[in-house]
Amino acid sequence: MPTRWGHCGGRGTAFRRSLPDLRPACGCKDSGVRHPRESSDAGVLPRRVAVISVHTSPLAQPGTGDAGGMNVYVLQTALHMAARGVEVEIFTRATSSADPPTVAVAPGVLVRNVVAGPFEGLDKYDLPTQLCAFTAGVLRAEANQEPGHYDVVHSHYWLSGQVGWLARDRWAVPLVHTAHTLAAVKNAALADGDAPEPPLRAVGEQQVVDEADRLIVNTEEEARQLVSLHHADPARIDVVNPGVDLKTFTPGDRGAARAALGLPAGEKIVAFVGRIQPLKAPDVLLRAAALLPAGVRVVIAGGASGSGLAAPDSLIRLADELGIADRVSFLPPQSRENLVNVYRAADLVAVPSYSESFGLVAVEAQACGTPVVAAAVGGLPVAVADGHSGSLVDGHDPRDWAESIAALLDSDAGALSRAAVEHARGFSWDHTVDGLLASYGRAMADYSGIQMRGAARDLASRRAGRRWAMRRGVRA
Ligand code: UDP
Repeated sequence: MPTRWGHCGGRGTAFRRSLPDLRPACGCKDSGVRHPRESSDAGVLPRRVAVISVHTSPLAQPGTGDAGGMNVYVLQTALHMAARGVEVEIFTRATSSADPPTVAVAPGVLVRNVVAGPFEGLDKYDLPTQLCAFTAGVLRAEANQEPGHYDVVHSHYWLSGQVGWLARDRWAVPLVHTAHTLAAVKNAALADGDAPEPPLRAVGEQQVVDEADRLIVNTEEEARQLVSLHHADPARIDVVNPGVDLKTFTPGDRGAARAALGLPAGEKIVAFVGRIQPLKAPDVLLRAAALLPAGVRVVIAGGASGSGLAAPDSLIRLADELGIADRVSFLPPQSRENLVNVYRAADLVAVPSYSESFGLVAVEAQACGTPVVAAAVGGLPVAVADGHSGSLVDGHDPRDWAESIAALLDSDAGALSRAAVEHARGFSWDHTVDGLLASYGRAMADYSGIQMRGAARDLASRRAGRRWAMRRGVRA
């Protein structure tokens, strides 16, 4: 994978100077870089990890409602960890009375459906009211096991971080946290008229940043945001790129894919895949398409989500208003297998988001040999190799998007496709799990070091001391 780390040149260099202790998880074989599996402090492997994913189940259909990239991430990393002998138990909130208390997803991967609050109709923004009930469920599940059941807690999204922090204190194991998105980042780049994240989310995120033993981010850009917006200690941050299932997402016959989806054979197709909400800016793609010649079709796959739920038919109305309804096709949320056909059917996949922590869709499309036109925000400049596997667009002016789309559709499709496959090959869930296990190893080593120094006897003073030391730039 082309490294983005300062040791190996590229744009990481300046960043590394400003954040001297961030750990590379790039897998780079250059002599100065420690591969995650070879790093001296990654020798400790957990036997069992408690993964907390309060607001959305890894078993939910991604691409609609609250389910998206995080669900895919949690499930795929759990499966790949279990394949290496590290057991994973995922705690999520039960959202149906039919949810069994536990689901054995695969050998070594167990989903625990915790009953906390009403099964249905509980908005994500009301979930903080149920965190106490959820945490009680998590602690009770652990109390039924032998002591020392989990070696590490990994929380995903700030709501889970709030739960993980208590579990960590109760179980005396380290807390590793992945924010996935930050309120401050989302609010700084809202679509016109979109609702901002509530201020209390940022407060909750700050608490979790302060409490977590290690923080995992998708890209260096996210690390920079955690440091600048939440004063995170750079020495506790690990950069671990998400992956893609390179066995499922492969290039294939475009004609067959279009036939399977009932899409016309003779048109150019630009696809949007994901949750339909203003943040993801599918409207920008429609407005751009209206500036392109007839013969360019837009395919939109996914379901309403977030503030998009308030107006689920807004894209249909917009296509009508723009006079392009006859060349826009809507597909419901697709299974992984069907999604492969969507990517293969498209000449180009568009990711016009206002903010994007990484953008799994971009890498999945490229793995299928489809180039990507993406907004130059968040993790997308990592997910897309600008000028090789697609293009990055600054801003959201439909004219700029139409221009970039037209240029890509006119380019050498074979060369773009080969570059896309090549770029995607650098991202795999195995590689992600290398980085996660290295981070867990560091967390466990640091945590046992703290315990050996006796500081764990007084948890409160340990925390206060660590924060004090961090403020002085000293690693506790
Ligand atoms: N997805 C899916 N079916 C759909 C639409 C999306 O399975 O119909 C999946 C997609 O394959 C990707 C995830 O949802 O893995 C979206 O992740 P991404 O990082 O692009 O966006 P997020 O949802 O995290 O904002």
